[in-house]
Amino acid sequence: MKHMSGQQWIWVALLCASSLGAHAEWVKRVTDGIMGTRIVVELWTEDRAKGEEAIDAVLAEMRHVDESMSTYKPTSEVSQVNVHAADGPMPISKELFDLLVTAKEYSRITDGAFDITYASVGYMYDFRKRVRPSQAAIDKALPSVNYRHVILDEKNHTVAFSQKGVRIDLGGIAKGYSVDRGIEVLQKRGFTRAFVSAGGDSRIIGDRFGKPWMVGIRDPRGAPGTVVTQIPLTDAAMSTSGDYERFFEEDGVRFHHIIDPHTGRSASKVRSATIIGPKAIRTDGLSKTAFVLGPEKAMEIYNRIDDIDAIIVKLDGSVIYSKGIEPLPAK
Ligand code: ADP
Ligand code: MG
Repeated sequence: MKHMSGQQWIWVALLCASSLGAHAEWVKRVTDGIMGTRIVVELWTEDRAKGEEAIDAVLAEMRHVDESMSTYKPTSEVSQVNVHAADGPMPISKELFDLLVTAKEYSRITDGAFDITYASVGYMYDFRKRVRPSQAAIDKALPSVNYRHVILDEKNHTVAFSQKGVRIDLGGIAKGYSVDRGIEVLQKRGFTRAFVSAGGDSRIIGDRFGKPWMVGIRDPRGAPGTVVTQIPLTDAAMSTSGDYERFFEEDGVRFHHIIDPHTGRSASKVRSATIIGPKAIRTDGLSKTAFVLGPEKAMEIYNRIDDIDAIIVKLDGSVIYSKGIEPLPAK
């Protein structure tokens, strides 16, 4: 047999590896523009083409959620509900119905801090254009903010609003929900190690080969990239809400995108809240509560729920943790 050079041996080894499909790798894709945010999907795969195709499927699922849940799209199912539900019960898809049931459940769990009818006032804000409603406009619309105005009929799968002026917006749980849907797409295809995030909502399946994923919690007033702490995560979801995400300032007052359903104004009792739990729809549904109820009351609620943990950055910059968390030093 002819003698082979070292280089040739490497080629043979590579050929064997690829024909056996033994070349496994992390595949990652970052996509902007779905649900107005950045989507990151990363997975471990033994077949790059299958990995890429699975990422396509995750993004298609997220686009579908965006199409049906966005209030920015007049054709979305939610926009149609906002137009017609005050006229009487209207049939909706099972998917939206189930989401509305979950949303109301989170209103009850959070003593009304989470409330999708915040939009009855919230629609008058435009944080990009520095637009906010007058106090008179808030006072007029505020009676329409109350999750009890959303009437769901389990048997007929209909929704109705109990009065005119009610609007809903699922911006507070749709990203978490879409992350869960994305993870389900990957699980169905047999992936066991993956990360999916939509803006501040993320979920992980598996670990990084014996090591957890390390997820940083941003310092709300620090330079981009600085973190207050890092959390090791395996098989978990995490959502962060921050007053630095979408805001403008006027006369030293910060107006930002989380609205207190009781006042119709920005809820500013903390700088950020991070929730860790099994599913992103749940962590998303809980992350706004601290802004409305304040750190102590919110932490009481978080500590009451068995599989939920929380990290809150208070207004003075100090950080508090729920019972189940051992903080690691910031890097
Ligand atoms: P992100 O949109 O980046 O995931 P959050 O999870 O903090 O950020 O959600 C903020 C969004 O939640 C707002 O843009 C708005 O759509 C919605 N929202 C604001 N206030 C409330 C509230 N009190 N209850 C439920 N949803 C809210
Ligand atoms: Mg969110």
